[in-house]
Amino acid sequence: MKIAMIGTGYVGLVSGVCFSDFGHDVVCVDKNPEKIAMLERGEVPIFEPGLDTLMAKNVEAGRLTFTTDLAAAIDGAEAVFIAVGTPTRRGDGHADLTYVMAAAEEIAHAAKDYVVIVTKSTVPVGTNRQVKQVIKKARPDLDFDVASNPEFLREGAAIDDFMKPDRVVVGVQTERAAEVMADIYRPLYLREFPILTTDLESAEMVKYAANAFLAVKITFINEIAALCERTGADVKQVSKGMGLDGRIGNKFLHAGPGYGGSCFPKDTKALARIGQDHGLPMQITETVIKVNEEVKRRMIDKLLDLCNGSFNGKTIAVLGVTFKPNTDDMRDAPSLTIIPALVGAGAKVRVADPQGQREGEALLPGVVWQEDPYKCAHNADLLVILTEWNEFRALDLKRIARKMNTPCLADLRNIYSIQDAKRAGFEAYESIGRAGFA
Ligand code: NAD
Repeated sequence: MKIAMIGTGYVGLVSGVCFSDFGHDVVCVDKNPEKIAMLERGEVPIFEPGLDTLMAKNVEAGRLTFTTDLAAAIDGAEAVFIAVGTPTRRGDGHADLTYVMAAAEEIAHAAKDYVVIVTKSTVPVGTNRQVKQVIKKARPDLDFDVASNPEFLREGAAIDDFMKPDRVVVGVQTERAAEVMADIYRPLYLREFPILTTDLESAEMVKYAANAFLAVKITFINEIAALCERTGADVKQVSKGMGLDGRIGNKFLHAGPGYGGSCFPKDTKALARIGQDHGLPMQITETVIKVNEEVKRRMIDKLLDLCNGSFNGKTIAVLGVTFKPNTDDMRDAPSLTIIPALVGAGAKVRVADPQGQREGEALLPGVVWQEDPYKCAHNADLLVILTEWNEFRALDLKRIARKMNTPCLADLRNIYSIQDAKRAGFEAYESIGRAGFA
């Protein structure tokens, strides 16, 4: 089967590569010529573990190609996936559908024969029907169906998530489209991964509901963490005790500096907006958005306490700027709230991140980049762990404490313990939802 994938970002490229690994003939399209040139040279424009090898394997096998020419890409394709960005629209929190609708128009003008136009981008309820209207208007003669196929992969584990999904959700209106989608996902059917076929609206809603629910879970434990700090409880023990309850589960119960990334912030805002548009405010989601902002602000207060009330003139070393480990994605990362607050208040900030510099340089003006966490900590007044990269999970804390001007550690991912910090010679240690010392 021939598939065209529009958009070669974190979702489009991973999906395209994985579909080609299923044995399909995949053409990936992007309007960014630099991205396509890189891909044609065999370079992966994003950092995603394992993607380079899988991509090379399928290019070599002749099943995977890249182009900027959408019309050529969709010629003969039975399915065209739209995997373009749906960022927050400036001003109102809505998902910006400009890129989706532009792609739909382009597909309409270029398509020749029956094709299923599949939206993989995260889009508000009703968008697939809108896509259908756009295409019908542009090409009343075209034989086509639309399908909604939201993506649930996580950056950093994207290939595994795509190849071994908890479920695949497919929203369709016709049997014919359902059959095309079943053919595409046949390798997963054969391995008995659940494929849920729904109507268009339900598929669209599943994605927002799932992401908002996960954001609720993270924010809930972050709020409990703040209460743990006031009451003397230890949030790590609390989340373990909660997570062992099968009805709750232990995932997404790790307290931290607030959720960020390319999905949760924009998808919670979009869901809140969808609710408002339908006269039914999503009160839980709206509260979560507000509380998450407070969580990030609380981090700044915590750091301020460790700096004795002033950042001015302090040297602060920050380990990790990406929104989570194993990705270079900086979109809505907590570092983008926390670090500018430090720089703005007069701190000299040094940062180290295994993959974050390429994206981060433009987003974090006024910081000095270091490759090595030990160099980063040299002569610093405070060390902040912001992203739990493996590289920061087994630091030689003694060596770090010796190198620092004032050995203070803010462990915003609860990687270490009071005992670790004391043994290493730190003078102060703070984490999330647990007692610290100063
Ligand atoms: P991205 O910004 O990384 O990539 C989008 C790509 O689409 C860009 O390379 C852009 O140049 C390209 N593009 C835009 N318009 C185009 C057009 N008309 N023709 C060809 N290319 C075009 O975005 P992403 O992170 O991959 O997200 C894509 C969608 O998937 C979003 O709706 C997002 O919410 C959803 N999603 C993302 C993730 C994730 O972890 N990133 C997970 C699940 C779902």
